[in-house]
Amino acid sequence: MTRTPGETAAPGGTPRAAGEVALVTGGFRGIGRAIAAALARDGAAVAIVDREIDASAERQPSGRLLLKRDVRDFEGAGSAVAEIEERLGPLTIAVLNAGISRDAPSWKLAEEEWREVIDVNLTGAFAYARASARVMRERRRGSIVFISSINGLRGKFGLASYSASKAGLIGLTRTLARELGPRGIRVNAVAPGFIRTDLTGRLERRFLDQALSETALGRLGEPEDVADVVAFLASPRARHITGAVICVDGGQTA
Ligand code: NDP
Repeated sequence: MTRTPGETAAPGGTPRAAGEVALVTGGFRGIGRAIAAALARDGAAVAIVDREIDASAERQPSGRLLLKRDVRDFEGAGSAVAEIEERLGPLTIAVLNAGISRDAPSWKLAEEEWREVIDVNLTGAFAYARASARVMRERRRGSIVFISSINGLRGKFGLASYSASKAGLIGLTRTLARELGPRGIRVNAVAPGFIRTDLTGRLERRFLDQALSETALGRLGEPEDVADVVAFLASPRARHITGAVICVDGGQTA
């Protein structure tokens, strides 16, 4: 397999994900971008699915294929997977990362805001996971990783729709792990704590300070902290792990 610039071999020589084809939703920015880079570094051919693909951006993400799609288009998931398989080969890794947040106490949250967050974070992730599992099942091989959140495990003031969507992903992870395990497909979730991205960059300083004070490690997370764990879960090194939810939060929920 030809490697793209920047991809490196794992210690010992062979790239860890050589020959794998990966899909990352929301991979143009933030955590998804770091995940795409980590998988590419490990040798995978990565397809990025995002609603905005800026082909003129100075720094392009580590994807061999960039697909401009909105994950809310449920039917579009099937055609995106078909296009990835046609252009890159059999899909073996799916990372469902695209997500949004609407911050308002539940009594102020508009119906539209509730539905939008559930549509993107939960239904969009389900659509792409299901379309991916469909092709992986035929070959009895694959790894699916959902990007949940620590706020899907605990409550957080002002994040009703977000927390519900992220808790939903945890239920989905465990159910799909049971359904797909017998077909050789592992399904896991990563639950990040506060990670420095555009999503959190919009927040007031006091929210950063609060998150920082919650951590045991005294630092806020970076996208690469999450990406390394996703790359591990996607790899054969995690061969006996399925149905797991791994917090990457510097001890925020410890
Ligand atoms: P960003 O907003 O930085 O990046 C999210 C990416 O997803 C963007 O490229 C965004 O596109 C894309 N996206 C959003 N909606 C859609 C859609 N409908 N269809 C396709 N692509 C879409 O967020 P983060 O990197 O911070 O977050 C990534 C994931 O990690 C999310 O699921 C988030 O909930 C989760 N997470 C983040 C944490 C954090 O502290 N940052 C903590 C815990 C979990 P666009 O630029 O057009 O919006």
